[in-house]
Amino acid sequence: MVAKVIDGKAFAANVRAQVADHVASLKKTNGITPGLAVVLVGEDPASQVYVRSKGKQTVEVGMNSYEHKLDASTSEEDLLALVDRLNNDPDVHGILVQLPLPKHLNEDLVINSIDPAKDVDGFHISNVGLLGTGQKSMVPCTPLGCLMMLRNHHGSLSGMDAVVIGRSNIVGKPMAQLLLGDSCTVTIAHSRTKDLPDVVRRADIVVAAVGRPEMVPGDWIKPGATVIDVGINRIERDGKNVLVGDVHYESAAQTAGAITPVPGGVGPMTIACLLANTLTACCRANGLPEPEGLTA
Ligand code: NAD
Repeated sequence: MVAKVIDGKAFAANVRAQVADHVASLKKTNGITPGLAVVLVGEDPASQVYVRSKGKQTVEVGMNSYEHKLDASTSEEDLLALVDRLNNDPDVHGILVQLPLPKHLNEDLVINSIDPAKDVDGFHISNVGLLGTGQKSMVPCTPLGCLMMLRNHHGSLSGMDAVVIGRSNIVGKPMAQLLLGDSCTVTIAHSRTKDLPDVVRRADIVVAAVGRPEMVPGDWIKPGATVIDVGINRIERDGKNVLVGDVHYESAAQTAGAITPVPGGVGPMTIACLLANTLTACCRANGLPEPEGLTA
């Protein structure tokens, strides 16, 4: 079997187009423009690239983008004061504080100071609790993107065996909650899991979120399974810098029924879902119906 390639780039473009349509009608019918504020502290090069890309895509879908770039030495007090201002700004519907923060700042404290209704990253402890108890919440963007692609490919996920490899707070754990919410039988595997190959071989759905280049080979994949590769690993191959996932793509694509490539799979969905979350937050804040198909 040669797997169907799940094209995350095309899927993300479609999500952005849906968001843009909804934003246009919000402006026309209700006179509301959703706004996303992104806060960057310091000069981490990767974070600068992400923030630029987020700002550009926010404007492209017709939303307002507010960028706040703060010096690496910014005090916790000043950062919390900015978050407080954004919490109280009616033009700001989504707030994202780019992680990682410089070491002297307490990430948990800062994230939990964001108004949960504007927490478009879904990292606030209230949103984590709401997701864990199956209530309406803001859902972390990367797992939301994975869920959308899985639903699109399968329709219903009910009763499927799913394995999530990795238990981070930003990907693994919320991914497992979302799959549970869609009635999968979910196993969370991690660095201490015994016999990982055997666990993966039983899964109809494999979500790999580890950060280890190509650690899941094709012979761990059940024939016909759907493989969602969240990993983004930069390695050197034949003297060139290349991006690879946590799954060994060439061999897994021979066994899987469907697979996301790296790059061009999960990656583009993350910002698309950030825009979807901002739109959702704006609709909720204004008591308007949420966009269909863009939430969990
Ligand atoms: P993390 O380092 O926080 O968590 C990694 C997890 O993998 C841990 O829970 C750990 O227990 C598990 N793990 C480590 N070694 C293992 C092993 N040998 N076997 C099984 N499990 C093992 O990482 P993260 O933030 O969840 O990110 C994971 C990967 O996803 C990274 O490559 C990251 O770059 C990528 N990522 C991509 C996106 C995207 O937009 N596509 C977003 C977030 C993260």
